[in-house]
Amino acid sequence: MNFLYQASVLMSDTCPQLSATYGKLAKAIGKKAVLRMEPAIKRTLCVRCGVLLNPATTADIHDFRHKQLCYVQVNCKLCGYSKRFYNSKNHQLWLDNPSSIIERIEFQAPSNS
Ligand SMILES: [Zn+2]
Repeated sequence: MNFLYQASVLMSDTCPQLSATYGKLAKAIGKKAVLRMEPAIKRTLCVRCGVLLNPATTADIHDFRHKQLCYVQVNCKLCGYSKRFYNSKNHQLWLDNPSSIIERIEFQAPSNS
């Protein structure tokens, strides 16, 4: 997954279609191996086509700020899909929540003495 994501990052400037193929493949392998991507990494890939959303080349990013509703809208230039990321003050990702950790196991090297 890491290698495919890096290949997708490299190809996003020169060949967006190849970047989309690598991004989709990385997602499919993560699904098959039941591995979760970090949300910060997952949000850089397009939901529909899998291209890396680079603001300079493959994505348009708009920041909307209204009275109570603030969000960042990311439009994919390759497939036209748009995704909104709401940023309210009290919103917290599940992985950042301390109650998401069930158990912490600490490993120690065995001592020979
Ligand atoms: Zn797309």
